Amino acid sequence: MSLKPTLHCNLIGGQWCEAAEVSENINPSDTRDVVGLYARGGRDDAERAVDAARAAFPAWSQTTPQLRHDILARAAQELAARKEELGRLLSSEEGKTLPEGIGEVGRAASVLAFMAGEALRVPGDRMAGLLPGSETEVTREPLGVVGVVSPWNFPIAIPAWKIAPALAFGNTVVFKPAELVPGSAWALVDILHRAGLPPGVLNLVMGSGSQVGGVLCSHPGVDAISFTGSVATGRRIAVDCVSGSVMKRMQLEMGGKNPLVVLDDADLDMAVECAVQGAFFSTGQRCTASSRFIVTEGIHDRFVRAVIGRLEGLKVGHALDAGTHIGPVVDDKQLQVDLSYIAIGVQEGARLAWGGKPLNLQTPGFYLQPALFTEVDATMRVAREEIFGPVATVTRVKDFDEALHMANATEFGLAVGICTTSLRHATHFKRHAQAGIVKVNQATSGLDYHLPFGGRKASSYGPREQGRYAVDFYTVVKTAYTSV
Ligand code: NAP
Ligand code: MG
Repeated sequence: MSLKPTLHCNLIGGQWCEAAEVSENINPSDTRDVVGLYARGGRDDAERAVDAARAAFPAWSQTTPQLRHDILARAAQELAARKEELGRLLSSEEGKTLPEGIGEVGRAASVLAFMAGEALRVPGDRMAGLLPGSETEVTREPLGVVGVVSPWNFPIAIPAWKIAPALAFGNTVVFKPAELVPGSAWALVDILHRAGLPPGVLNLVMGSGSQVGGVLCSHPGVDAISFTGSVATGRRIAVDCVSGSVMKRMQLEMGGKNPLVVLDDADLDMAVECAVQGAFFSTGQRCTASSRFIVTEGIHDRFVRAVIGRLEGLKVGHALDAGTHIGPVVDDKQLQVDLSYIAIGVQEGARLAWGGKPLNLQTPGFYLQPALFTEVDATMRVAREEIFGPVATVTRVKDFDEALHMANATEFGLAVGICTTSLRHATHFKRHAQAGIVKVNQATSGLDYHLPFGGRKASSYGPREQGRYAVDFYTVVKTAYTSV
């Protein structure tokens, strides 16, 4: 019996292909644990994958909606049936807790099932034309080859909500997952491939952002890029996407610095739950995490005390251990970013009211206590810049008006939340919040898969993802005129 570990290969033109390099997928809960070995592709592999996707496009774009529906529905079923196993893999490579990992796989299955239905519901319009006898039709067609570039923090849900609509509407895909999380990406592609996709319709190229991602964003054979990641990478990709002979359609989902406003009239227990869930669960590594608590004077001290009380009861630990509430940070680089921001907050004069220390646990991993800063001035860097870790700030404000102003005073605009029992304030906040997503008495993170998702300002560029709105990005509109 061979003890050689399995190498997970790239999928190019329907063939599983090795690459020049191999990467080890490391478990952030226990760095001695190698989750698996994965091919690490380069520019050549990315170019071959684009060629394969181009070659597959004409036939795939002409397939029936029924065929595309059936493939996605089959993949959804397998994903749902294997959610415990794949949730474990996801939590092992990314570090979110096992229930969070299983929940994410379940969500990816729901996304695939929903998008299977969308293949059958491609909308169109028919109207009388303005000339005598003229009829018009507005139809939607697939775009061509879509490059999918995804981040590490939702290793299966984000790829699913990009790849599924791309395929449902008749596009072919080259998928480059984040290097830190190739396992979930590989499993998703394997399932879709075996569900019956013809060769070249979905290609997987694991490898670095600059090499593989760079080819996708600059190759004239790619028609559109759907990207989720940081603002810095998004800006760079945007330049690449418009600099070549083909100006690509882009959808960029980027960072956030999401506020949760807590008003004096809020239900305190509910506000604390929204705050702790939104800021610290999934180790704070969610683009929709609330990292700024904006709290009015009358409830401020009670809120801070209660949040600290809740944090005291949370267990940071190995992602797979029962009883762990918060898993490790994804890797050492991100841990160092988190720690450097905690040091910056202290230097800026904020009060580190709870946590913020790295933890040495039984297994070597990137463990960090959740950190709560109080007495935070809105001009401090910890209150303005995305940290992307379990770090939140509390800023005291006089009243609702000041809270709304502060919530909007940011370059970002992804998700915002308010905890209040006042219908007037809740309604005003929903109308005036400059963000893609507004939550009243709910954590800013945690979103339904059948609704549109995206932000404003520096958080997003391009049409919304998910739900019925996905069709806007993944199809191109044609207007036809006929006189008879
Ligand atoms: P990132 O560093 O920007 O990377 C995102 C993806 O882009 C990765 O696959 C990365 O590859 C790739 N990439 C890097 N450089 C590239 C280049 N020059 N050309 C093409 N691709 C390139 O982001 P991350 O650290 O993975 O994720 C964290 C960020 O994602 C946070 O800012 C978070 O707010 C954001 N996020 C946003 C949303 C949203 O929907 N708005 C959702 C989740 C996360 P490698 O990493 O493999 O090198
Ligand atoms: Mg990165």
